Amino acid sequence: MSDARTPAPGHADHAAAVGTCPGATGTVPGPGLVAFDLDGTLAPSKSPLPEPMAAALRGLLDVVPVCVISGGQVAQFHDQVLTGLGASPAQLSRLHLMPTCGTRYYTYDPQGEGDSDGRGDWRLVYANDLTASQTREVLAVVEEEARRLGLWEDRTWGPVLEDRGSQVTFSALGQDAPLKAKEAWDPSGEKKSALRDAVAQRLPGLEVRSGGSTSVDITQKGVDKAYGMTRLARATGIPLAEMLFVGDRLDPGGNDYPVKALGVACRAVTGWEETAGLVTELARELGSALADSDAAACAARTVSAPASTVAPTAVSPLPPSVPSAPGHQAPAVGAGGRG
Ligand SMILES: [Mg+2]
Repeated sequence: MSDARTPAPGHADHAAAVGTCPGATGTVPGPGLVAFDLDGTLAPSKSPLPEPMAAALRGLLDVVPVCVISGGQVAQFHDQVLTGLGASPAQLSRLHLMPTCGTRYYTYDPQGEGDSDGRGDWRLVYANDLTASQTREVLAVVEEEARRLGLWEDRTWGPVLEDRGSQVTFSALGQDAPLKAKEAWDPSGEKKSALRDAVAQRLPGLEVRSGGSTSVDITQKGVDKAYGMTRLARATGIPLAEMLFVGDRLDPGGNDYPVKALGVACRAVTGWEETAGLVTELARELGSALADSDAAACAARTVSAPASTVAPTAVSPLPPSVPSAPGHQAPAVGAGGRG
């Protein structure tokens, strides 16, 4: 695993080092970081970013650090997000990747030697994996319960059970099932819930959650997107209270809900089209606030006006601010801690 002493992108020290993201200094109103769920939020399930979404994200990366956090594994981030994003190295340096609900955390490192996944440009900052014996037990229990409940399908596309290191994922129809088949499998969510409950009962020491439309995810206890967001705040030094999260499953029971329960400001969306509109508007508002802030600071210097006469430009893309969640005030501890 790579050494992690360099501040992660978005960290105040990193922002100072790269000197390109004045929005991260906290002097401009608006979120200090925007985090997104992936499937159903930035892209259709298991599909690449549509170009309008990619363009909107590039614009946002110009003005604020961005995180993508999902139950999917890192390969999915490469296929769905990075391949079609078309971002510059400067933009990528403000992108944070949190696969498997933030049990793994990657930052961009163009000079890096790569990591265990062989991705040269992305540095694994930490991984919080299941042990080998936990993984064996999980794989056995999930298959037994799925068969017992009649949810072990004959017709599948790709592996049904997948060991993702920090997470085991059950996908009823296989990892590569077509979207239509997945949507038709369990529209009410009853099958997933039944399997989730049965597996949870047999694995009380582990976290068992409904994932995507046909999937159930098993991780260490306490690992969900709230865990990932908390780790992100520690790694970047950006408090949770300054973050905005965007997701399509913020309803209780949805896999984005733990972020809302944590007290992070959230925006619910119904699909990537809505997200693209929101992101475009947010980038525009933050960009103009930054420009105004720079111009105001410049004018203040020119006429030697006291700083207090420079009124901040109001941008209000955020819901009312929410109370800080416990624990997030912890000072940045560097990003190298193993969870
Ligand atoms: Mg989603």
